[in-house]
Amino acid sequence: MVFEIEERDLAGRTGVLKTRRGEVETPCLMPVINPVKNLISPRELKEKFRFKMIITNAYLILKHFGKDAPDVHSLTGFEGAIMTDSGAYQLLIYGGVETSPQEIVEFQEKIGSDIGVILDTPTGGFASRADAERTVEETIRRAKTSFRLRKDPTMLWAGPIQGGKYLDLIRKSAKEMGKMDFHTHPLGSPVQIMEGYDYTTLVDMIVTAKRNLPPNRPLHLFGAGHPMMLALAVALGCDLFDSAAYALFAKDDRYLTTRGTFRLERLSELPCSCPVCSQHDQKDLLEMPKLEREEALARHNLYATAAEMRAIRQALREGGLWELVEARCRTHPRLYEGFKRLGKYAKYLEENDPVVGKGVRGVFIYDRLSLRRPEVLRHRHRVVENYARPPGKDIGVFIPNPQERPFVKSKEYQEARAILEGSPSHICFYGEPFGVVPSELSETFPLSQYEYTPGSGINIVAEIRRFIDANAYRKVYIVDPSESIFLKGTITLESITQLRGQLDENLA
Ligand SMILES: [Zn+2]
Repeated sequence: MVFEIEERDLAGRTGVLKTRRGEVETPCLMPVINPVKNLISPRELKEKFRFKMIITNAYLILKHFGKDAPDVHSLTGFEGAIMTDSGAYQLLIYGGVETSPQEIVEFQEKIGSDIGVILDTPTGGFASRADAERTVEETIRRAKTSFRLRKDPTMLWAGPIQGGKYLDLIRKSAKEMGKMDFHTHPLGSPVQIMEGYDYTTLVDMIVTAKRNLPPNRPLHLFGAGHPMMLALAVALGCDLFDSAAYALFAKDDRYLTTRGTFRLERLSELPCSCPVCSQHDQKDLLEMPKLEREEALARHNLYATAAEMRAIRQALREGGLWELVEARCRTHPRLYEGFKRLGKYAKYLEENDPVVGKGVRGVFIYDRLSLRRPEVLRHRHRVVENYARPPGKDIGVFIPNPQERPFVKSKEYQEARAILEGSPSHICFYGEPFGVVPSELSETFPLSQYEYTPGSGINIVAEIRRFIDANAYRKVYIVDPSESIFLKGTITLESITQLRGQLDENLA
């Protein structure tokens, strides 16, 4: 097993990718380094920033050092796992490369890359349908021939998924590449989609790839690494990221944060606690010589990115990824559109989300969108489709959710129970945000571990109706002090105390 999944939250997971240079914890971001010259040395990336894996470009190594290039670890001075790209990006940008699919596969083995990439043909974000089809076919063909060239069984190989924004082509590409013996799958073309802030399409692309790949293969979102979008991508199931953004943005005096990108001259403070921002203010940075400033900004950008990856892994382990995604996606309306798109994939998220809560923290419900989160949907489906009331208890008694939790510890429940003792009654609670909660389930996650803002928009009457219809009660009492629930065939009471008289009258 090259990849072991550990914990899950939504469709995201933490895991361990086993490379021949040690285990790499995922989700993981690999800084992109230039094989020849870097602002920050790869050694420092490991020692100071604690990046476990980096990515560099085998094609550039081949061009610069020729066929007899040294081992990529001695070349870069990085002792951890190194992934190499194949030159496909150069193929996309310049339209051609001076190598062949065969040569670059053999070359990556020779220089000791830990994860290699075949020379695929990238689709790009702007490709026509015909071009996209051609790149998918050609990448599959090259993937098949690459197996004959692979000699070292300890090296891992990445099989890229193409198709650009054409979801049916991504589906085909993921299905075909997933059948072959690859260890990770990069999803191509997200960069141009993200540059256009088209996060809705990005969400569609990721989910399509995930649904058609074997679940135990890590998905690598090629070229993605802005701290503001990483949480969303992880929630959808991306495990690996690589990014040159830290260096490219620094060159352009841009400062990365989870709230977006800022131009240095427009900042009046440095809103960050990394070593760079703690030791300098914005004015110091602006007064530095260009190269020194570029390096300082690249360092800040790396610290900010590494910190966000830690925040994401922590949130995932405690079951709080939804809240983190929700907060991050509010940094930009287009990113929020991507978050709203999760509603379309509620079933996908629910299938992947763990059924048993981690119990570290409760579920936060803010509004209608929060009602689409797996914990809420799962309860609302199950209580109608997979639930049966306790046998023999055919009098339904519905009381509003008490303040106290778990609900069965409340004085309202105790009072109702005392009155109903000896009768074949089944007490259920109703209200936001879960609809109907049968008393015997009220202590299970997350039915007593949640916080919510009233007004989340759930239709209580419809929820009770569905529940009653599914459970065939002989009689139904609804305690409704607000007198807002009218349901045919049920008896409404103003208070729990009134239950006594009703029972005497109807059940004696
Ligand atoms: Zn900083």
